[in-house]
Amino acid sequence: MPEGDTLFALAAQLRPVLAGKTLSRTDFRVPRLATADLSGWRVDEVRSVGKHLLVEVSDGDRRAVIRSHLGMDGSWRVFEPGRRWTKPGHTARAVLRVDGAEVVGFALRELHVDRVGPGRPDPLAHLGPDLLGADWDPARALAHMADAVARDPSVTVSRVLLDQRVMAGVGNIYRNEICFLLGVHPTTPMRVVDAEEAVSLARRLLWHNRLRPVRTTTGLPGRADLWVYGRADRPCRRCGTPIRRVPDEDRDRIAFYCPSCQPPDR
Ligand SMILES: [Zn+2]
Repeated sequence: MPEGDTLFALAAQLRPVLAGKTLSRTDFRVPRLATADLSGWRVDEVRSVGKHLLVEVSDGDRRAVIRSHLGMDGSWRVFEPGRRWTKPGHTARAVLRVDGAEVVGFALRELHVDRVGPGRPDPLAHLGPDLLGADWDPARALAHMADAVARDPSVTVSRVLLDQRVMAGVGNIYRNEICFLLGVHPTTPMRVVDAEEAVSLARRLLWHNRLRPVRTTTGLPGRADLWVYGRADRPCRRCGTPIRRVPDEDRDRIAFYCPSCQPPDR
């Protein structure tokens, strides 16, 4: 599942392919962008912000950003020009051609081309500090957590961790793993959780995994990568109690937890 570390690694993969090159052809296969054409534009930088991928382009004084969100199933792949794609063509949403490579975005949940310049709003301004950003700022994340609790004293640790306005980059896997490492049930009110430790764990885990091929939160050898995520009914790696899974309050996501290591808040 794509989380902040996935996007960081993706940007690192695409940067040497695209940055500094001129787009010889672009094809945006969403109705809203049917007439968008950035051929002749230059790619200045490829970077991630939270769970978004940004391809920054310019043409003389004009600047724009190709901004995408992978959602659950999206991906970007690099092909040699003329090579057969490894994913179905009808799921392609963006094709960026440069000298020597074709970069294709498949099944993207979101795709935008934003013009950048004075007076134009930053579409990602609502995001909290990026856990893997050069300007990562734990104090801002903590302040946003405190604001979230002040607004709603019953807000759960899960909701706060997943709220990209608090800090950007945590998805469902890290949410579950952080709750386990904090020793709190996923529905525990944020107000009784150690916010500093939550922020510090989020940063440590994403940073550790930002360029690893296999994500791990346990530091354990072999294939014991995760503590609880995706491990329903299997024994807790700490205490042996079977891991449980329950839908979240909004039924959007699934929470995994150990009922012994993460007892419900009383
Ligand atoms: Zn346990």
